[in-house]
Amino acid sequence: MQAAATQTLPETISTSTASPTATATRTPTPKPAPTLTPTPSKASIERALIISFDGLRPDAIEQAPMPNLMELMKGGAYAPTSARTIDYPATSPSHASMLSGLCMEDHGVIYNKFYMYMGYSKGVDVFDLAAEAGLRTVMIVSKDKLRQLAEPETTQVFEVAYGEPAIERAVLPQIEADFGLMFVHFAGGDNRGHKYGWMSGEYMKVLRQGDEVLGKIIQALKDNGLFETTFIMVTADHGGHDTNHIGTLIEDFRIPWIAYGPGVVQKELTLPIYTMDTAATVAYALGLPLQEDWDGIPVYEAFGEPQVETHESYPCKQ
Ligand SMILES: [Zn+2]
Repeated sequence: MQAAATQTLPETISTSTASPTATATRTPTPKPAPTLTPTPSKASIERALIISFDGLRPDAIEQAPMPNLMELMKGGAYAPTSARTIDYPATSPSHASMLSGLCMEDHGVIYNKFYMYMGYSKGVDVFDLAAEAGLRTVMIVSKDKLRQLAEPETTQVFEVAYGEPAIERAVLPQIEADFGLMFVHFAGGDNRGHKYGWMSGEYMKVLRQGDEVLGKIIQALKDNGLFETTFIMVTADHGGHDTNHIGTLIEDFRIPWIAYGPGVVQKELTLPIYTMDTAATVAYALGLPLQEDWDGIPVYEAFGEPQVETHESYPCKQ
C-alpha cells in the first residue's frame, strides 16, 4: 500500500539571539567556544532496528537477568510499567499494531493465526513507509504466521528462524549487509511461558539466551560501524502469567518499551504508551511521514522533546 496523507512533524523553533536595539558602539558578545564533541542528535539516525521478545514481561528483564538489554535501558529511554499492548493481547494482532500504528479493528489482523484469505495487515505500516523511502527492509521472525505483518513487496528479506542460534545466524549477515529497517522477533519467552510458566526458570533461561544474541547484534553493529547511527527499539507483543496471556491480569498487557540511539535521552518514561506508538516512534526516528489515521503517537519524550500529543485513554475500540 502507498503512503497516504502525512502529519506535520513538530519543528524546532529557532529564536534569534540578536538584540533589535543593538548599536554600532555596543561591545560584541564573546562567541562561545566550539563544542568539540557534538551530542549525537536524532538527525544522525540512519537505520532502525525493532526487536520484539515475544511474551517478555518488563519485570523479567532484571530477574532473568538480561544484561545487554539492561545496558540499553541504562543509556536510553524506557518505560518500566507504563507501556501496554492492545486489549486482545495475542501475538499476531498485537505485533500488527506494533508495526502498523493501528488498532486491531483497523489493521484487520484479528486472528492469532495467518489464514491466507485474511490477507496482510491493512493500512500503511512502518515497513510500507520504509520500502517507499527506498530503505533496505529486513524481517526475521521465529513464528511463520508473522508473515501476515507486512506484504512481501515491502520486505526485501523475510526469514523464519526457529530458536536463538538460528536467529543469530539469520540476523548477523543482515547487519553486515546493512539495512534501513529491520524487525527481529524472538519467540523463546512465549514458547517457554506456555510450557513451563511465565517467570519460571525455563522462561528466564531462554530470555538470557535471547539477550546473548542481542549482545552479539550490538557487537555486530559496532564492528560494522553502524551502532552510532542506529535507532534501537526493544519491546514485546504481550506479557503473561501462569502458562497463558489471555488478558485476565495487567501482567498480560504490560510490555517493555525501550528506545536507544542517537538523540535518545536517558529517561524513565511514565507517560501512557501503547504498542501502536512503536511504529509511530520508529517512523519519526527515521524521518518517515507519520500517518494521519495512525492510532499511535511518537514518544517524543524519548528524544527529550515536548510530548505535543498524548493518549488520554485507550485509543482502540476492541
Ligand atoms: Zn506472543
